[in-house]
Amino acid sequence: MAQIQFEVVAECPQTRARAGLLHTPHGTIETPVFMPVGTQATVKGLSARDLADDLGVRILLANTYHLFVRPGPELIRGMGGLHRFMSWPNAILTDSGGYQVFSLSGLRKIDDRGVVFQSHLNGDLHTFTPESTVDAQLAYGSDIMMVLDECPEYPVSREYARQSTDRTVRWAGQAFGHYRQRLEQTSGFMLPGPGVPQASLMGALFPIVQGSMFADLRRACASALLELEADGYAIGGLSVGEPRPLSLAMVEATEDILPRNRPRYAMGVGMPAELPEYVARGVDMMDCVLPTRNARNGCLFTSEGRVIIKQARYKEDARPLDPACRCYTCSRYSRAYLRHLFLSGEILYAMLATRHNLQRYLDIMREIRHAIISEQYPEYLRSVRSTPVEAGGS
Ligand SMILES: [Zn+2]
Repeated sequence: MAQIQFEVVAECPQTRARAGLLHTPHGTIETPVFMPVGTQATVKGLSARDLADDLGVRILLANTYHLFVRPGPELIRGMGGLHRFMSWPNAILTDSGGYQVFSLSGLRKIDDRGVVFQSHLNGDLHTFTPESTVDAQLAYGSDIMMVLDECPEYPVSREYARQSTDRTVRWAGQAFGHYRQRLEQTSGFMLPGPGVPQASLMGALFPIVQGSMFADLRRACASALLELEADGYAIGGLSVGEPRPLSLAMVEATEDILPRNRPRYAMGVGMPAELPEYVARGVDMMDCVLPTRNARNGCLFTSEGRVIIKQARYKEDARPLDPACRCYTCSRYSRAYLRHLFLSGEILYAMLATRHNLQRYLDIMREIRHAIISEQYPEYLRSVRSTPVEAGGS
């Protein structure tokens, strides 16, 4: 039985863009969707009220690796699962932890069984296997879980990419075997643990297409993963330092293989100008730390391009950050004030800046969805491509 349901409500006849509805155990999400990143079970600087009520966020991402090393899956299970622990009413997607193991952990050893790694916090040794990462995400109670994958750095040799992709496919098979066993054991429902009065529906599991920057390996990987008949498919291994046109080409490579009636999730992308490009290539879900991390670093995305708030030109600028934005920050504060808060290292700066950057990303996604539904997507794409400030990329 499918754990989530996906409905395509409109398709662009010229590009591969589609608008849909993703039904999860914690509500329905309009797609294409951008998911804010809540690494440590929090989107830094924002409360659940800011996110759910003010910004209208329906799904966010939390990191399996970070929550595994602290506070640990068993503590979260004991606190009633991640939704209750972080007081989040809407859907949660968790990644597999693979990417963080490969990018953060100093010491790691990978073999066919899984990956042994050293916690970046205290040096403790842990093991991730395809089975154990499913169990960790079940303990969190995620609505959408990811299989353990190997995310190779860029560039790697074709031979390494081939071996690594084979391993990712094998691991996905093991993860699904384990997941389906757990589904049978619980008849589709999580057993209530301490502090969990109500049974909740078990989340969906997505396999991840890898293959580094080799289109044929990615196509072979996607074809092999189809056998799993998953509720959705993720495209990983992007944003690892490759040139941007290559990331888009890699998404394009598997678009016609991945099932059209399942959501596709491009992991870890992208810049504001890239969001419509991924959607044009059939992507329904995206996540990225850029809007939140850049906000804290003083880089703000507006409808007129980027604002680097520390610049002297904003010192006496009484205008709102983005006159076209309706967020709390833009309706109340000036650029001069934001610059002052940033230079003073004030906490309020991070809160206001994050709020605005997320609003900007969510506004772009609303524009995209509206353009698809109103059959204007090719025109929309042309107009954003010809806007030099946004097309300026990184
Ligand atoms: Zn704003």
